Amino acid sequence: MALILFYTITCNAQKPEETEVWEPEPSIVTPGSQSHQAPSDAIVLFVGEDLSQWVDINGREPQWEVKDEIVTIVKGTGAIKTKIKFGSVQLHIEWRTPSEIAGEGQGRGNSGIFFMELYEVQVLDSYNNRTYSNGQAASIYKQHIPLVNASRPPGEWQTYDIIFKAPSFDTGGKLVKPAYVTVIHNGVLVQDHVELRGPMEYIGQPVYQAHDKKLPLQLQDHGNPVSYRNIWIREL
Ligand code: MG
Repeated sequence: MALILFYTITCNAQKPEETEVWEPEPSIVTPGSQSHQAPSDAIVLFVGEDLSQWVDINGREPQWEVKDEIVTIVKGTGAIKTKIKFGSVQLHIEWRTPSEIAGEGQGRGNSGIFFMELYEVQVLDSYNNRTYSNGQAASIYKQHIPLVNASRPPGEWQTYDIIFKAPSFDTGGKLVKPAYVTVIHNGVLVQDHVELRGPMEYIGQPVYQAHDKKLPLQLQDHGNPVSYRNIWIREL
């Protein structure tokens, strides 16, 4: 060891300090006292009884049901979206599919989280409910199959922690960098920095189209009474 150290000092003119990086210093963020609570720099999108951060797709007050610190989709009232627009973000969201099982496949507990109103992370009851793999819970809908199925049973709360990196386009509208998504489902990594081929496309192949750098986050009404709670977001 001493010999190696002697060799290193005498034969290598470089110093350990040369590879130390001190700037920028990461800013201090106080974590929530429970791991699911919003950290100090998050924008809280929904806790308690307050849907004031949201509008429906027509820009009006959302018609989803808010009760006991939970918001539940009311069939047919349409998607809701945030008033604030976002690009790259870290999102925490908790969701629950109905305990009373109704329907099957894509018809059971279907909703979805649309980043920039375009890029969907699927919400579905995928507990003993087979559907196409790239359409089950935690899939990037019709693009990426989750690494594992970390679903909890219907009626239980589930968490998503998602890192979404927005795509970028040049001034001519050409794609410069695609979108990337990482998803942690109930504490389990299920999407590992996957590259998106374009916006969610129900039929056919996705194709990127240039859009604004920031757009609202949207939650889908797919006709099933899926509930959400404790939604917070951090801009990256
Ligand atoms: Mg969906």
